[in-house]
Amino acid sequence: EAFTGALPGDARVDSLIAAAHARYRDHGEGVVADYIPILSEADPAWFGISLAGADGVMHSVGDTEITFSIQSISKAFVFALACDARGHEYVHERIGVNNTGLAFNSVVAIELNDGSPMNPMVNAGAIATTALLPGATPEERWERVRSGLSRFAGRELGVDEEVYRSESETNHRNRAIAGLLQSYGRLEGDPLETVDIYTRQCAIAVTASDLAVMGATLAAGGVHPVTGERVVSAGAARDTLAVLAGCGMYERSGEWLFEIGIPAKSGVSGGIVAVVPGKGALGLFSPPLDSAGTSIRSQRACAYLSRALGLNLFAST
Ligand code: GLU
Repeated sequence: EAFTGALPGDARVDSLIAAAHARYRDHGEGVVADYIPILSEADPAWFGISLAGADGVMHSVGDTEITFSIQSISKAFVFALACDARGHEYVHERIGVNNTGLAFNSVVAIELNDGSPMNPMVNAGAIATTALLPGATPEERWERVRSGLSRFAGRELGVDEEVYRSESETNHRNRAIAGLLQSYGRLEGDPLETVDIYTRQCAIAVTASDLAVMGATLAAGGVHPVTGERVVSAGAARDTLAVLAGCGMYERSGEWLFEIGIPAKSGVSGGIVAVVPGKGALGLFSPPLDSAGTSIRSQRACAYLSRALGLNLFAST
């Protein structure tokens, strides 16, 4: 009952997400990512919006069943698993929680901060976070990632092998970042093994409605709203949302919070998950990106829905 009455009624939610979709579906700005070669094959017209209530009720419009690689959005859920496994103090000390103000794959950010990975939502911090997951072998650690994200989604997730191959062949920069972290003593285990697990985690195939459900699990304090399974502790869910608020939207996280007021994470394949504690989560997908790497239609739709559904955390009315 803690979660009832938080969103407008179901019919109103359906009509507002349909309105958001209609409003931005023909929006033509943005460029589909191509630094991971296979991503450039995405259809720029794809656009889907799902909302999952913290009570498990789903609302969807548009291309919400098309699968795409989760990319950086995986960072949020892997961090939640790491918080759950290692605890608040440990992740704070080992990874950090402050925004770099620089691009997600910045090497300079590491150098400027004495080798710190800075926060779990940039590549350095995400690779270091993946390395924190317990497991005796790389296979065990990978399975912890895959099964953990599957529990958030409430279904078995798998890897888009084409995306995994395409990124593995071109991820020289992430390998360099991992090597640099290791040189500072800031990475547990073997750097290349960890980059490989990180690359696989980014290639996990999801839909916009999966993202909404995964986000709703964080919104509901770590308990999956449909399966009822506790996926992570309430503390891990809270810690994850705090980091998303500060660092989830690349170097534009401050502007995002100022305009939209919802903890969120975006990824270069065009997804966004936006989580409203106690209420639910939006999962959005559309491939054309702005210069920071965030889907343009998805962010416009989030801004619209934040106002229309009263989702801004900082608004008192
Ligand atoms: N796998 C991508 C990378 O590491 C994720 C980037 C993103 O979505 O921001 O470069």
